[in-house]
Amino acid sequence: MKPRDRLRIAMQKSGRLTEPALDLLNRCGLTFRQSRDKLFCFGEGEPVDLLLVRDDDIPGLIAQGVCDLGIVGRNVLNEFKGTAGDGAATLTEWRSLGFGRCRLSIAVPQDVAYNGPNDLSGLRIATSYPGLLGTWLREQGVVATTITLAGSVEIAPKLGTADVICDLVQSGGTLVANQLRETDVLLQSEAVLAGPDALPTDERGDMIELLLKRLDGVIQVRESRLLLLQTSRNTLDAVTRLLPGGPQPTLLPVAGQPDQLMLQALCAGEVSWRQLEEIKKAGAREMFVLPVEKMLA
Ligand code: ATP
Ligand code: MG
Repeated sequence: MKPRDRLRIAMQKSGRLTEPALDLLNRCGLTFRQSRDKLFCFGEGEPVDLLLVRDDDIPGLIAQGVCDLGIVGRNVLNEFKGTAGDGAATLTEWRSLGFGRCRLSIAVPQDVAYNGPNDLSGLRIATSYPGLLGTWLREQGVVATTITLAGSVEIAPKLGTADVICDLVQSGGTLVANQLRETDVLLQSEAVLAGPDALPTDERGDMIELLLKRLDGVIQVRESRLLLLQTSRNTLDAVTRLLPGGPQPTLLPVAGQPDQLMLQALCAGEVSWRQLEEIKKAGAREMFVLPVEKMLA
């Protein structure tokens, strides 16, 4: 293959991962010329270009060396690794990216009794992930028939072409709409940055290192929240104990109210309503949860 000095990243041309992947790359300071409906996007500032393809093609393009990296669901990457032979084994998840979350699950018709994987013995299971399903069935010691479908897996039981399915689930809405219920989770998935085990040793390797550092910064900040609240001094300990993980909070006096404190804490992840309600019960008031846009420690 002709040597390249520019980094090439494969990503989904049009689908669930397209917008969030582009958004993430933009936040890493990468911008691209040419509209998104073209196959190739030329990087403007940094020597990084995009190849826009069907998500199923991404692992193969990396394995063949056509692209250096790819943004793809773990489900697609692992299916490829399990079925594509030797070259595929050298693909690695360099980072998990926190979007496109879903799971690969077994779902059975709602009116069918199910007591565990053994009940799948002898059944026909429709899936687009025969590799991942096959591995799981072997681990469970279950022998069943895999019916491989490219799409519309969820209607197979209704059509009578399969008894149960193994498909991606996000909210579960599609399953309910098809009178199915989720029974076993085979894989928790999200979008990942995939690449070869061994990074290139030329300028592209340096660019990948830089990109990984920027990604880490972006992902860390994206998941951080700034929590602001007021508390009296005597409830401070109880409130502090409930704060979600992160560095020590900062305390500020409140003008004219000597027993009150303003507390500011950087939280490492989401702060849920339930957590807020617990902290409030412990004595906090005037609580705000703010997204963090940039951080320079
Ligand atoms: P392509 O035309 O690129 O092959 P596709 O139809 O295979 O597109 P999408 O439906 O856009 O792919 O899904 C892309 C990825 O999004 C999936 O592989 C999976 O990792 C993730 N995903 C998240 N939630 C879901 C969901 N509910 N159903 C399917 N995929 C999901
Ligand atoms: Mg696809």
